Amino acid sequence: MVFYIREIKKEIMEKVNILGIDIDKVNMSEAVGKCVEKIENKEKFFVVTPNAEIIVKASKNEGLFKIINSADLAIPDGIGLVIASKILNNPLMERVTGIDLMTNLLDYADKKKKKIFLLGGAKNVANQAAKKIKENYPSLIISGTMHGYYNRCDQGQEESEVIKLINETKPDMLFVGLGCPLQEEFIAKYQGQINSYLFMVVGGSLDVISGNIKRAPKFYQENGLEWLYRIIKEPTRLKRSLTLPIFVFKVLLKKINNIISK
Ligand code: UDP
Repeated sequence: MVFYIREIKKEIMEKVNILGIDIDKVNMSEAVGKCVEKIENKEKFFVVTPNAEIIVKASKNEGLFKIINSADLAIPDGIGLVIASKILNNPLMERVTGIDLMTNLLDYADKKKKKIFLLGGAKNVANQAAKKIKENYPSLIISGTMHGYYNRCDQGQEESEVIKLINETKPDMLFVGLGCPLQEEFIAKYQGQINSYLFMVVGGSLDVISGNIKRAPKFYQENGLEWLYRIIKEPTRLKRSLTLPIFVFKVLLKKINNIISK
């Protein structure tokens, strides 16, 4: 993918509001271009990756709701959002998944010898992910890694130590995979204190990159069915996936409400 700094003319990007959450109407190359532009300009940039489950979660968590709406870029990370945008007559361009955006940013980091820090996942996951990343992108610099159970594990490492560790290594990009809402809350709380430019939530992407969890085959990815693959592989996720019909129902209610109030 070509992603070199593209001038994105409109600083204020077009958005679609889905159940109160503003999603940026970007395609992959625009999302990458925006992140790269900010890193090159040495500006802080917070990227969130809402999907149907996160939007339903945010509707019950005011703090999360505010954090997502105050982020600099909210990519549409889920087929549910693309469908919802069509129902609401304000279609998104395409699904832009967090893991694909991260992969494109790793490619950029490799070409420009940028430094990245990986935070999150069970013990060793970030290290294993770093090893895989280094094999595929030899020129980027892994400035550091930290697992995501720092304040609950035996070592009892506190968040302030994590911030110190990140700051000592001065990454250009910080990828945070602590699950929602911990990862969004972490970035919102510490972004001002951390020496980095790109702050991106990555959910379970470190599990996939490390090889601990297999990403859905291309067929599932291309047909917006990754959620189905994850349920097949991890049936315990079924309960989480039930938020999808709740989400669609809420969007339909919103649509009916829009029609009635016209
Ligand atoms: N996680 C973590 N610390 C925590 C809770 C979760 O590092 O206190 C990690 C967990 O190990 C997993 C990721 O956060 O790697 C969340 O994955 P999930 O599948 O929930 O995210 P999704 O991809 O669905 O957004």
